[in-house]
Amino acid sequence: MIHLEDYIRDIKDFPKKGIVFKDITPLLSSPKASKACLDGLLKLVGTQKIDKVVGIEARGFFFGNTLAQSLNAGFVPVRKPGKLPSHTISQTYDLEYGSDTLEMHKDAILKGDRVLIHDDVLATGGTARAVCNLVEDLGGVIVQCNFLMELDFLEGANRIKEYPVTSLLHY
Ligand code: AMP
Repeated sequence: MIHLEDYIRDIKDFPKKGIVFKDITPLLSSPKASKACLDGLLKLVGTQKIDKVVGIEARGFFFGNTLAQSLNAGFVPVRKPGKLPSHTISQTYDLEYGSDTLEMHKDAILKGDRVLIHDDVLATGGTARAVCNLVEDLGGVIVQCNFLMELDFLEGANRIKEYPVTSLLHY
C-alpha cells in the first residue's frame, strides 16, 4: 500500500521566505508511487468523458500528459508568455506582489470540448482561475479541476467554486 504523502517533501522557505514548497520530485522518481498517483487521479475522474486535459506549466505537465493518454484525450499545455509558437490567448492574474500571465494556443480547445484541468498544487487558486477563464473563452466545458494536493488553508477552491474541484491529498 503506497502512501503518496510519504513521497512529497516539504522544502521550507522556497522559493522565498515563508513559503513551504511541496516538492513532488521524490514521487516522480518512484515508478510505484507515480503509478499509484496516476491511478488515484484517474479514479477522481471516474467514467466522465474527457476530450482534452489541460496541464499547467510546469509541474502540471508530468501527470497531465499521462492522464490524457489514459483517458484517450488530447493534452493541452498552458504556458508562461512567449513559449507557445502559434496564435495564443492569454490571461493576466494578480499575485501577492505583482501579476502573472498564462497563455494557451487558440486552436487547442474546440467549442464544446469536455475539459479536465490538472496541476500539482492548488494554493490560492489564482492560477487555476486564469486557466478556467482561458478554457471558457475558447468554448470548452470544464468537467473537473483536479490536483495532486490542495493547501486547504488558502481556500483556493473558492476561486473556482462553480466547477467540481478534487484533490488526492489535503494539507
Ligand atoms: P496558486 O495560483 O496560488 O493556486 O498557485 C498554484 C501554482 O503555484 C501551481 O502551479 C503550483 O505548482 C504552484 N504552487 C503554489 N504554492 C505551492 C507550494 N506551496 N508548493 C509547490 N508549488 C506551489
